Amino acid sequence: MGLFSFFKKSSEKSMIIGLEKTKKNVFKRLWDAISGKKEVDEELLAELEEILLSADVGVKTTVQLLSTFEEKSRKEKFVSDEELMRIFEGVVLEMLLKYNTPEKIKNYDENIKPFVYLVVGVNGVGKTTTIGKLAGQFKHAGKKVLLGAADTFRAAAIDQLKVWANRAGVDIHEKGMGADPGAVAYETLSKAKAGDYDVVIIDTAGRLHNKVNLMNELGKIRRVMSKVIETAPHEVLLVLDATTGQNAFEQARQFTEVTKVTGLVLTKLDGTAKGGVVLGVSNEFQLPIKFVGLGENIDDLQVFDPEVFVKVLLKNVE
Ligand code: GDP
Ligand code: MG
Repeated sequence: MGLFSFFKKSSEKSMIIGLEKTKKNVFKRLWDAISGKKEVDEELLAELEEILLSADVGVKTTVQLLSTFEEKSRKEKFVSDEELMRIFEGVVLEMLLKYNTPEKIKNYDENIKPFVYLVVGVNGVGKTTTIGKLAGQFKHAGKKVLLGAADTFRAAAIDQLKVWANRAGVDIHEKGMGADPGAVAYETLSKAKAGDYDVVIIDTAGRLHNKVNLMNELGKIRRVMSKVIETAPHEVLLVLDATTGQNAFEQARQFTEVTKVTGLVLTKLDGTAKGGVVLGVSNEFQLPIKFVGLGENIDDLQVFDPEVFVKVLLKNVE
C-alpha cells in the first residue's frame, strides 16, 4: 500500500519546467516584497496578499496563510529577509501537508483487483488525457488495464479515448455515442471482473449545466458500479484545469456537492502562471492532490509531491 514506484514522481527538474510561469509570477514577486524586510508589517502583508490572490491561491487560503505567517514570524525576535522567506515556505508546506500526507495521497492499492477509478470534471479540463496517461503508466508497470467510455455525449470523446487506449496499449469498452453511461460503466466493470483486469478507469461527461442532472448521472454510475463490485469506485478523481483559476474552485464546489470525491488531479500546470490554485483547492476542499498534469505527453502526469512543489516554487532553484 502507499505510493507506487511505477507512477511518475514529481522530479524537481520536470516541476521546474512545468511550474516555470507560476514561479516567475510568484517567487520573484514574493522575494521582491520580502527582500529587505525585518518584520511582517501591514505593507508586507498587503503585498503578499495581492501576489497570492493573483496566483489564484484563493481568498480563504490566502487569509489563512498570511495569518499563520504573521503569527510565526512574530515569535522570532530578529529575523532577516531570508529567514522570513523560510518561515513563509514552512507555512505553505505545512498547509499542503495537512491534506497531502503520504497516506492521503496514496492513489492505488494492488490488493484490490480490479481497482476502479471514476474520473469526473467538466468538459475540456483534461479527463480523457489524464486517463490515457494513467493507463500508459499502469501498462508500463505490467498491469492489465480496461478503460470505460462513459462519456457518451459526443462521438469525438469516445474516439479520443480510443486513441489513448491505443497509444497506451490497453483495452477499452465502449457502446458508442448516446449509450447510457451507467450501462457502459456496468459492462466495463463486469468485463474487468471476468477478464482478470487489474485496473479500470471510467471516463465521464462533465456536463454541469444542471446540477440535478449531474448528481443523478454520477449517482447512477456509482450505483451500477457498486452492483458489480461492492466497493467500487475505489477512487473518484476530480480533474481541474489549473489555467482556469477561480473556475476551478467553483467546479470543485459543485462536484464535491454532488458526489464523493476522493482526490484531485490538477492539469495544465505547465500552461499557467497561477499554479497557486493547487494550494487553494486542496486546502479549501480538504482534498489531496493525487496527480498533476504538466504537459500533453503520456509521461506528463506525475504524483504530486508537496515538498518538491514548495521547493521549486519558493526556493531559488534554477
Ligand atoms: P476532457 O474534455 O476533460 O476529457 O479533456 P481532454 O482530455 O480532451 O483535454 C482537453 C485539452 O487539454 C486537450 O487538448 C489536452 O491535450 C489538453 N491537456 C490535458 N492535460 C494537459 C496538461 O497537463 N498540460 C497541457 N499543456 N495540456 C493538457
Ligand atoms: Mg474527454
